[in-house]
Amino acid sequence: MMKEKIAIFWYRRDLRLDDNAGLYHALKSGYKVLPIFIFDTNILDMLENKKDQRVEFIHQALDDIQTKLVAFGSSLFVKYGNPTDIWQKIFSEFDIAEVYTNHDYEKYAIERDQAIGAMLNAKGIAFYTFKDQVIFEKKEILSGAGTPYTVFTPYSRKWKETLNDFYLKSYPNEAYFHNFIKTNPYPLPALEDIGFELTGFQFPKKDISEQLIHNYDEVRDFPSILGTSRLSVHLRFGTISVRKLAQVGVKLNEKWLNELIWRDFYMNILFHFPHISEGKSFRKEYDNIIWRNNEIEFGKWCEGKTGYPIVDAGMRELNATGFMHNRVRMITASFLIKHLLIDWRWGEAYFAEKLIDFDFSANNGGWQWASSSGCDAAPYFRIFNPTAQTQKFDPELKYIKKWIPELNSFDYPKPIVDHAFARERVLNAYKKALEKK
Ligand code: FAD
Repeated sequence: MMKEKIAIFWYRRDLRLDDNAGLYHALKSGYKVLPIFIFDTNILDMLENKKDQRVEFIHQALDDIQTKLVAFGSSLFVKYGNPTDIWQKIFSEFDIAEVYTNHDYEKYAIERDQAIGAMLNAKGIAFYTFKDQVIFEKKEILSGAGTPYTVFTPYSRKWKETLNDFYLKSYPNEAYFHNFIKTNPYPLPALEDIGFELTGFQFPKKDISEQLIHNYDEVRDFPSILGTSRLSVHLRFGTISVRKLAQVGVKLNEKWLNELIWRDFYMNILFHFPHISEGKSFRKEYDNIIWRNNEIEFGKWCEGKTGYPIVDAGMRELNATGFMHNRVRMITASFLIKHLLIDWRWGEAYFAEKLIDFDFSANNGGWQWASSSGCDAAPYFRIFNPTAQTQKFDPELKYIKKWIPELNSFDYPKPIVDHAFARERVLNAYKKALEKK
């Protein structure tokens, strides 16, 4: 029997049915659409902890999509393995006319998509890819001189000038759901089948509270208050659409919209300056710094035992929940780099392992900001004083006490280094490195 020619939509970091650009175009292709997802062993094999919240989050998101698809007689096709091998299997099982997917700007993803694109091309199968995870990508926001922006403020100005309803409009995917392929459900592998275990973790809700966005400016910097949206994991895996969130930002609060623009900004930096994927500083002269890289001190920072309560509270929040408040991410990152004079790449890697919302571009951007080596970074002589930061942002020590119950007992360590001494030490190290320029 002749197989029916179909279109495939390949899910990656866009795990939703609504307002999904690539899926929308697939559903309008004129072919019945089979949505697929590949648990990619090139990525999963690098995760040492088999209780990984992110894998569980992805699994839950797929389960949610599968439940909805089964309700209208369709199914998601989920496989585990190397994308090249899996695609070979897909070719043998289905007669494919076209493949649709959304852009991903990370180094590995670009290489993977080029390889799969070449395979599809060799078989005469069209490969259509779309912008979905950002509002503006690639060369859509350039300076008057046609160059990419490397400073946030002019970038955000141009971003806002360029924005119109077209860029914000949601794709009406719902109107085309009848174009999903009709099939008996394909089995969704259990977490255990792909070598992972349940973490039992409660993920941040997908709800967006208008009240919270409204009050954002006043409370966003206080880690003891639930004053930020906690949507980062949903943006990371695309369980929420950035267009829908930008609509909320435009309507309710420009300050919050700016955070979404920071996200676009760092993705654009990654696209235009791929050397940051090679472990390099954005500003090359910062690669001359001679780090101390004391492993024992690094271990204490990771565990939250530096004797600086705001730093320790942050690291303990990260270790326990996979999340850390933005203000505290800045303080802990600055402390590792500037107080302990440890290479920012060590901290970047630790965050990458632990953060549930880990995203290469935002994480690298945050770390290079803190180390002063980034595109629009803190000046190198700006050294956060953890005590002053605490007085300002956790004056009643509510956040600190939540994470450090032993704060006032003998069990709590003495400060790992004196602030004034560390300040002088790092200033000298940076000065020396920058003189070499
Ligand atoms: P909200 O304040 O509600 O902001 C809304 C959304 O805007 C966030 O969900 C996020 O997607 C985006 N956003 C906010 N701030 C930034 C920013 N500075 N850069 C880029 N996007 C931003 N964010 C990540 O998503 N993944 C990371 O791996 C990551 N690593 C970081 C590392 C360091 C050292 C620092 C200083 C910041 C990092 N951030 C990262 C940015 C920021 O801390 C988080 O996005 C934020 O804390 C998430 O909380 P929220 O969803 O409540 O944010």
